[in-house]
Amino acid sequence: MEAEQSQIYALRRVRMVEDQIARRGVRDENVLAAMRSVPRHLFVPDSQVDDAYRDGALPIGFGQTISQPYIVAIMTALLKLDVRSRVLEIGTGCGYQTAVLAELVGEVYTIERVPQLAERAAETLGRLGYRAVQTLVGDGSRGWREHAPYDAIIVTAAAAEAPFALLRELAPDGRLVVPIGAAHGEQMLTVFVRRGDTFEEHEELLCRFVPLIEDRGPEQDDPGGEG
Ligand code: SAH
Repeated sequence: MEAEQSQIYALRRVRMVEDQIARRGVRDENVLAAMRSVPRHLFVPDSQVDDAYRDGALPIGFGQTISQPYIVAIMTALLKLDVRSRVLEIGTGCGYQTAVLAELVGEVYTIERVPQLAERAAETLGRLGYRAVQTLVGDGSRGWREHAPYDAIIVTAAAAEAPFALLRELAPDGRLVVPIGAAHGEQMLTVFVRRGDTFEEHEELLCRFVPLIEDRGPEQDDPGGEG
């Protein structure tokens, strides 16, 4: 029964990749294979399982979403990964994009600011055997210096402007993929490629993400003020 169910989901993934992703022009065969293999329905809340392979984003609690499959595919393809790439992800959410990355590379570092989401994602990823992943709870817009530099950085929340702390953590020729624009409107999915001390910038497509929320840490606090 369970085996039969998982066959049905595998078929839905084949169809999802064909209809929603390949047909729209994503050709990277490694990305397509990764998305045929990650069981998206196991990352969404129970109430969303039936819709897991639909062509859209879905709520995952805490006002957050799991991205549309097509957006996950295109962002992953834009990172131009190979098996040796070291990847940093900002905005773990339910961990689905993290799993797609972990299908492709040996080292994935991922940061989530909502502790409950981070915990649930780590649990799901662990249960499914994604051992290449290290998770951290905190404000990812500041980067994760300990493991830098990264060959690829993906931000799955909307930033108001180019996140400099993340650009700084890119390896030579490393790529940062990030939606840039207004928090509650459309953003431009943007790719930065490090060339020495400068960055090439490419605008790819319009998209709509939940906002990247920058938590003010001790070193950014106001020095006093009115009580
Ligand atoms: N990649 C996710 C998409 C999650 S939505 C998936 O596949 O499900 C974006 C996530 O970014 C949310 O979970 C939100 O809590 C998180 N987020 C927002 N600002 C953040 C920040 N500064 N640092 C880390 N995570 C952040």
